[in-house]
Amino acid sequence: MVMSHNKDFLDSAFNNPEQADEHFMSLALEQGRRAFQHQEVPVGSVVVDWDGDYPRVLAEAHNRRAIDGDPTAHAEILAIREASRKKGDWRLTGTTLYVTIEPCPMCMGAILLARIDRVVFGCGDPKGGAAGSVYDLSDDPRLNHRVALTRGVREQECRRIMQDFFSCLRREHSERDFILKSWREEEK
Ligand SMILES: [Zn+2]
Repeated sequence: MVMSHNKDFLDSAFNNPEQADEHFMSLALEQGRRAFQHQEVPVGSVVVDWDGDYPRVLAEAHNRRAIDGDPTAHAEILAIREASRKKGDWRLTGTTLYVTIEPCPMCMGAILLARIDRVVFGCGDPKGGAAGSVYDLSDDPRLNHRVALTRGVREQECRRIMQDFFSCLRREHSERDFILKSWREEEK
């Protein structure tokens, strides 16, 4: 999948393309952890330009839906916007987008509009994924762009951060319910 002119760089910095994918996914995971710290659903995304002599990170972002009060502030959208700004071009041809969880339909739409070459994701999203799980917008002949997919990179870590986040949320909810219940009992 990795373009041949990056081979020398890959040989020096990484042992193989899989190792490069794991490295960039670790940056996306780091972004996911930042989202977690901000009590956001922990999704992180990184856009890497593979078109030069060596891969260049154009953007790193995490989900900011609650912080920004914006339903479209998904990690991938923010990373795509920053990458386009940095490249000075809305076309992100030659880039790979790394994201910790399978993109939703909105993000896959943006990925296609940006002409991104390839998407690498950690864990699948059986409830809303649009890169093979619920929909597959990566390879639809009715759309005018196709994107190569690699799934399952650092899958366990990507899944665990989501599970940890939602189990914390459930714990907080049950603690809050417990406190509310105790108040009601005091009022009696
Ligand atoms: Zn999304």
